[in-house]
Amino acid sequence: MNVNCPTCKIEIQWSKENAYRPFCSHRCQLIDLGAWAAEEHSIPGEPAFHESRYDEEAMLPCKLDEEVFYS
Ligand SMILES: [Zn+2]
Repeated sequence: MNVNCPTCKIEIQWSKENAYRPFCSHRCQLIDLGAWAAEEHSIPGEPAFHESRYDEEAMLPCKLDEEVFYS
C-alpha cells in the first residue's frame, strides 16, 4: 500500500518498517507537527476578538450614562 507523505507529497510505502508513516521521513513528520503548532499559535488571534468584544461592552455603560444624562 502506497500513501503520499502529507508534507512533501512524495509517494511512500505504508509499512510497519516505516516508523514515520504516513510521513516519508522524520523531517517531514517534524515539519507537519511544526505546522500544527503554528496553527495552534495562530489561535491567539482570539484574544484580540475578546478584547474588541469587551471594548463594545465597555462602551455600553457610557451610552447608558449619556441617555440618563440627557433625559
Ligand atoms: Zn515527506
